[in-house]
Amino acid sequence: MTETTETESRKLLGRLRTAMAKDNAGQARLDEITHLIADSMGTEVCSIYLFRDPETLELCATEGLKPEAVHQTRMKMGEGLVGRVARTGTIVNEADAPSAKGFRYMPETGEEIYSSFLGVPIRRLGETLGVLVVQSKQARQFSSDELYALEVVAMVLAEMTELGAFTADNAAMTARHKQAVLIRGGTGQEGATEGHVWLHEPRVVVTNPIADDPHKELERLREAVETLRVGVDQMLAGASGGDTEQMQVLEAYRMFANSKGWMRRMEEDISRGLSAEAAVEKEQSTARARLSQVNDAYLRDRLHDLDDLSNRLLRILTGQGTETGADMPADPILIARNIGPAELLDYGRSLKGIVLEEGSVGSHAAIVARALAIPLIINANRITTEALNGDHIMLDGDQGVVHLRPDDTVVTAFRDKIAMQAQAQERYASIRDEPATTQCGTTISLQMNAGLMADLPSLESSGAEGVGLFRTELQFLVRNQMPKRSELSALYARVLDAANGKRVVFRTLDIGSDKVLPYMKPQEEPNPALGWRAIRVGLDKPGVMRMQLQALIRAANGRPLSIMFPFVAQYEEYKAAKAEMDKAMERERILGHEVPGDLEIGAMLETPSLAFAPDRFYDEVDFLSIGGNDLKQFFFAADRENERVRRRYDTLNVSFLTFLEQIVRRCEASQTSLSFCGEDAGRPIEAACFAAMGFRMLSMRPASIGPVKHMLRRLNLVELRAVIEEARAQGHQSVRPAVMAYLRNNS
Ligand code: PEP
Ligand code: MG
Repeated sequence: MTETTETESRKLLGRLRTAMAKDNAGQARLDEITHLIADSMGTEVCSIYLFRDPETLELCATEGLKPEAVHQTRMKMGEGLVGRVARTGTIVNEADAPSAKGFRYMPETGEEIYSSFLGVPIRRLGETLGVLVVQSKQARQFSSDELYALEVVAMVLAEMTELGAFTADNAAMTARHKQAVLIRGGTGQEGATEGHVWLHEPRVVVTNPIADDPHKELERLREAVETLRVGVDQMLAGASGGDTEQMQVLEAYRMFANSKGWMRRMEEDISRGLSAEAAVEKEQSTARARLSQVNDAYLRDRLHDLDDLSNRLLRILTGQGTETGADMPADPILIARNIGPAELLDYGRSLKGIVLEEGSVGSHAAIVARALAIPLIINANRITTEALNGDHIMLDGDQGVVHLRPDDTVVTAFRDKIAMQAQAQERYASIRDEPATTQCGTTISLQMNAGLMADLPSLESSGAEGVGLFRTELQFLVRNQMPKRSELSALYARVLDAANGKRVVFRTLDIGSDKVLPYMKPQEEPNPALGWRAIRVGLDKPGVMRMQLQALIRAANGRPLSIMFPFVAQYEEYKAAKAEMDKAMERERILGHEVPGDLEIGAMLETPSLAFAPDRFYDEVDFLSIGGNDLKQFFFAADRENERVRRRYDTLNVSFLTFLEQIVRRCEASQTSLSFCGEDAGRPIEAACFAAMGFRMLSMRPASIGPVKHMLRRLNLVELRAVIEEARAQGHQSVRPAVMAYLRNNS
């Protein structure tokens, strides 16, 4: 970098700032800027292209090209050299542009006479807002200094665009963050909801991208970085030694905070005329752009660390904390890139919905959102950049769609949908205290699934007869360290108190596979779903299981207790787990604790092998519960977490129903109580078929009890069974079409 270009770029930014300070708005301002850049860079042409919609770029201002082309010339993402810059987010520097690959001639612009082309993305925080181009007649490659200068200018333009500096009279640039946006993501938790945006981490607003005095800016940056370093060191000193993951993150923070390369790049940005904030953002933007290109999980994590660190630095520089002074709306929809389970629990049920830019179906946040029954959309690309605090937002959790700042038609259609759901809820409330007795006189016991203390009030409101599945792992997942026995015991006691005599089936710790405890050494396994999980961990490392069994016995304190072991694949595993329970009972008795007089020990049937276990198993086990989510994935060999295959096989596939029927028969023969507690139990059509196949107990999310009960009460199981038999006899792959036709004609 030469002293001249340094001053050139600084001079250019200085002129830019003067232009910005003038009272000219919108187009006039843009025109002046293009003139200024072309003049400073000694090029005949300077043009600014901005996105008109997510797919189309529009020429918004130019110096040198034909003025009549402004707002007329448009190109699709990826089209021509400008489109290429926008699509790839990289710089295009061509000495002989017309013969470059992908060049597209736009006759209305008159650009054919210009040979060299330099295009840089106008990018803010990894998001491309447009393209800045300079062109000249002389066929030459632009130097790296020129390129750098243009990048710095583009950075400032991005900040200005973000601040709406060009929007006054420019249709193509109707203020960003005012337009309606539709984002498609994935379903984390179903449900339709409406509310206003609450950003988990509000964006820092940079209002001064250009430096007045580079020396002062350098000083500000150095001071801020020092504060940052001290902060990271303090966090490291305060971090619990055992939490290796947290330590790793903090170590990475420290590495970046002390990184000479990072610092040097920011200092260079400042010496070229950017303010300290803009320099931090420029580096952050580059890191974000890289993020979208790397697949390596470790590298992505580190880039995220750098991103977090940049945010901290920006907060220090701008004095904008997470506390922005904004009030949380009454109907908050939480927007975050990602969120930990504990943070989500802090918000609790105050949230009406959650949208995550990342996340996965099996993430801890998703587990908590499901437990809290809050609609959740995951993988909502760009939501954190698009949404502003207080924006109106509607979520369709069933379809995984986010409507941000929706227009009136969307609002009306969406509210109709919510109203229909509310009407249905009223219908369900009216039968809450009625039994799920079918038209042919069979009563099905409907139980609810739970995992948090916060779920327990639903026992009353949903009309569930008991808790058919209490997933105990949530208590372990949401903490940073292993919970203590006394804590667990107190919690389980509160659960039993809240259940008020209704049966609660506690499932012992089901970890491994997608559920990884933050404080346990992660296992590198080629196929975690088929790996060291649930009862396998419990039996190999019995310490935690013993502690949990003790906590349960103490919590019951003489009251009836139901415990089931997850993922039992063979009789021996059940026997070994049961032996642990017997030992725990004995120990507690010796210690003088009151033990439950009425104790039942069951197993979850989640692997096909257990369906074929010896008769002795069926005779011994007190009850069985089918974990349909796992059972189905193993039956069809289709990963429940893999979007490509998880919906590929129908639960009402004849093979699966026949398999379930065999299990029902075995349980009938051995008089073993049987229930179904996977997600399918909460789907009315599936639940109806299960009942027709002989299931008499179903456990589901509380919100599903109403719809399932409503269905069962209208149903004749004998007739439905005949429909299923007929479809099976006819060789159909799935009984669903026949069942649907029957239900349509008989309701
Ligand atoms: C199941 O597998 O169906 C089940 C209920 O357990 P989880 O979803 O917690 O694995
Ligand atoms: Mg399971």
